[in-house]
Amino acid sequence: MALPGTSSGLHIVHIAAEMAPVAKVGGLADVISGLGKALQKKGHLVEIILPKYDCMQHNQINNLKAPLYWDVYANLGFNSARICFTCHNFEYQGTAPAQDLAYCGLDVEHLDRPDRMRDNSHGRINVVKGAIVYSNIVTTVSPTYAQEVRSESDPQGGRGLQDTLKIHSKKFVGILNGIDTDTWNPSTDRFLKVQYSASDLYGKSANKAALRKQLKMSSAHASQPLVGCITRLVPQKGVHLIRHAIYKTTELGGQFVLLGSSPVPNIQREFEGIADQFQSNNNIRLLLKYDDALSHMIFAASDMFIVPSLFEPCGLTQMIAMRYGSVPVVRKTGGLNDSVFDFDDESIPMQLRNGFTFLKADEQGFDSALERAFNYYHRKPEVWKQLVQKDMKIDFSWDNSASQYEDIYQRAAIRARAAT
Ligand code: ADP
Repeated sequence: MALPGTSSGLHIVHIAAEMAPVAKVGGLADVISGLGKALQKKGHLVEIILPKYDCMQHNQINNLKAPLYWDVYANLGFNSARICFTCHNFEYQGTAPAQDLAYCGLDVEHLDRPDRMRDNSHGRINVVKGAIVYSNIVTTVSPTYAQEVRSESDPQGGRGLQDTLKIHSKKFVGILNGIDTDTWNPSTDRFLKVQYSASDLYGKSANKAALRKQLKMSSAHASQPLVGCITRLVPQKGVHLIRHAIYKTTELGGQFVLLGSSPVPNIQREFEGIADQFQSNNNIRLLLKYDDALSHMIFAASDMFIVPSLFEPCGLTQMIAMRYGSVPVVRKTGGLNDSVFDFDDESIPMQLRNGFTFLKADEQGFDSALERAFNYYHRKPEVWKQLVQKDMKIDFSWDNSASQYEDIYQRAAIRARAAT
């Protein structure tokens, strides 16, 4: 949402459920702090409104005040503000009985209609649908995902909202997320054993040796490739392919480290079973928890990084992996399709080719991509090294994406001023 008229910049208020590092379960948290910082650097005043979670250390937050609309924003000229709804994942829609609107002081009869907030397939109200209908601009987090959620051929993509998105197509756009390049910087990262850069890769192998030692993995062969995976273990992430990747990596003679936890009890149990099964195998480690410090070490230590998602609105880990010189092996979907380009695909300019991709979410597809990566790693070490260095130099910062947000906020603010 952008309020025009504060000094030369915009007054931008982000309302979100997460923000790194104070409240994070996934990529939304990274986006809120990364995009916020990038917009601030461009001279805008950015505020972020979060729920007051119990897990926050309230004594470390200055001037805590989750503010009342009429007390604060109305005085700042909110009547001419414009609203941009950015959807990080259409899987999570927030439906509720229509009567619940009354608890928020809203008019149930006015809003519980098919062209407003009523869900497209059942009688409840749908908050994400309401946001699409009532916002001036709707964005999502990659151009490919913006296509997929309106797709005729895959009506699953939009999770029931494809028709609503089609109706509102004119105000809908996909902007690829960036990553916070201060937080994710191998040359300054304090979680690493040794910092490193594209021009000095010694630290990368030192971190690999350190992680192997820390996790009590085999260090007999320095050049044995290490495959990493850091993820929420939910169906979206292709858990069957993650499980398969563990076995496939073993078969190919590599090492595998998974850092992930699951909110779904049977998935968590299943992976606990696999972890037990591989307990005495010193090439495989499954760490079934959330651990920020360890995630930095795995990005730095791994040679390859898998993201075999069934769908992926944007995905950040493939970009972080590349910044740390870990070559991504990903399924071609959503933001993965917009950020990873197959090394062997001759229809893509060579300078853009940065990883290994596969199309079908099955074991054969995944195997062929991973096998190709292993082949280059073992048989063409010089080519591999150049690929690692190229990946580390790609600009995944927020600069470009924040400019696109800035542009749409600014245009909406200008339209708002013209209308008042
Ligand atoms: P999503 O938002 O769907 O979870 P993204 O790829 O957009 O996926 O972002 C995931 C973010 O969460 C990355 O910063 C990743 O490093 C982090 N992350 C995911 N699982 C863990 C974990 N178990 N421990 C530490 N960090 C994690």
